[in-house]
Amino acid sequence: MIKNYKFRIYPNKMQNNALQTTLKQVRFVYNKQLELKIKIYKDESKNLSQFELNDYLIELKKKYPFLLKLHSQVLQNINQRINLAFKSFYLRAKRGEKPGFPRFKGKNRYDSITYPQSGFSLNDKLYISKIGEINIVKHRYIKGRIKTMTIKRTATNKWFAFFTAMQENKPSKIINRQIVGIDLGLSHFYADSRGNIINNPRYLRNSEQRLIKIQRKHSRKRKGGHNRKKSRLKLAIIHEKITNQRNDFLHKESRKLANDYSFVAVEKLSIKDMSKNRYLAKSIADVSWHKFLQMLAYKVEETGGKLVKINAHGTSQHCICGNKVEKTLAIRTHRCNNCGVEIDRDIMSAIIIEKLAFFGTTAGSAESNAWGYERMLSSVNQELSLHSS
Ligand SMILES: [Zn+2]
Repeated sequence: MIKNYKFRIYPNKMQNNALQTTLKQVRFVYNKQLELKIKIYKDESKNLSQFELNDYLIELKKKYPFLLKLHSQVLQNINQRINLAFKSFYLRAKRGEKPGFPRFKGKNRYDSITYPQSGFSLNDKLYISKIGEINIVKHRYIKGRIKTMTIKRTATNKWFAFFTAMQENKPSKIINRQIVGIDLGLSHFYADSRGNIINNPRYLRNSEQRLIKIQRKHSRKRKGGHNRKKSRLKLAIIHEKITNQRNDFLHKESRKLANDYSFVAVEKLSIKDMSKNRYLAKSIADVSWHKFLQMLAYKVEETGGKLVKINAHGTSQHCICGNKVEKTLAIRTHRCNNCGVEIDRDIMSAIIIEKLAFFGTTAGSAESNAWGYERMLSSVNQELSLHSS
C-alpha cells in the first residue's frame, strides 16, 4: 500500500535561493524538452518516449552546462511529466473531450521538483542533494519505505515536502515498555518522573537574552528609517541562529527520551494560554514546547510507542498521596504534610502526570483525564498492595 505524507519545510535564505534556482532550471528543461518533442513529432511524425527523451538530456547538458548541477533523476522526472501530459491529452481527446494541448510553462506555472528515488534522505532534517540539510516539521511518523519525494512551493512562497511511502504490513516493534511522565517548565526545560531535570542550555539562554535586547532596541527605531532596516537584518540573523540552536537541542533531548522510554506522558499544552501571554520569554518557551512535543511524538511512534497527552490541571498543586499542597511559583520545593515527601516541585508534577496517564490502564488508552485524583490514589494503593503481596 502506498501512502502520502506532507510536511512543511523551512529552508534558510541560501537554501531558499537554491530551491528557487532549481525550480527555474527544471522549468527551463521542461520547456526545452517539450519543444523538442513537438518538433520531432512535426518533422518526423515520431512520438518520443520518456526514455528517448532521456537520451536527449545528454545533448542538453552539453549545451547548457549549468544543468550538470541538477540531480539526474530530477531531470528524468521532467520527461516523465511531459509524457504524462501527452498521455492525458490523448486520453481526453479519445473520450471526445476538448483537451488543452500540453503547454509551455510560464514563470509561476512550474512549482515542484520530484526526486523519484534518490538525491534526498530524511532524518531529523531533510537532506537534499546539492541543497543541504533543511529544517522540517515531521508531525507524523512515516511507516514503511519512502519511495519518492516532491518539493513544492506555494503561491505564498511556503515550501512543502511530499513523500510517498510503501507501507509494509508488519507492525513496528516496541523497543522497550518503559514509561515516564514529564513536566515542561519555565525554570527548567523539563523535569521527569524519574527525578531528572533537564535545563535549557546556557548558549540558548544567552542567545535568547540577546534577542530580547535587540528586539527592544529595534522597536524604538523610527519606522521606515535606515537604522530600523539595519536592525531588522540583525534581528533576522539572530532569529535564524536561535532556531537552529534550539532545533538541535530539541532533537537531541527528544531522541534521548525516545531511546529510553516507549510511553511518555505530558500535560496537554493549552493553545489559549499560549496566545494570551505577552511575555517574550514565555512565548519563546511555548514555541519550544510545541516543537518538542511534535518531535517527541514522532520519535516515540517510530519505536512503536506513544506520546500520551493528558488534561491535568492542578498537577502542581497536589501530592502523589492525593493531598492538596498549594504553592506559589516562587516555592520550588514540594513539601507534603500528609505523607512527608520533600521533592522538587516539577519532579512531583511529572510523577503525577505519569500516574494520571498510565496507572491501572493499558498504556495509550488513557488519553483524557477521566482519572480524578481519587482514582489515581486508589490505583497507587492497588499497586502498593500488589507489590507487598
Ligand atoms: Zn503527600
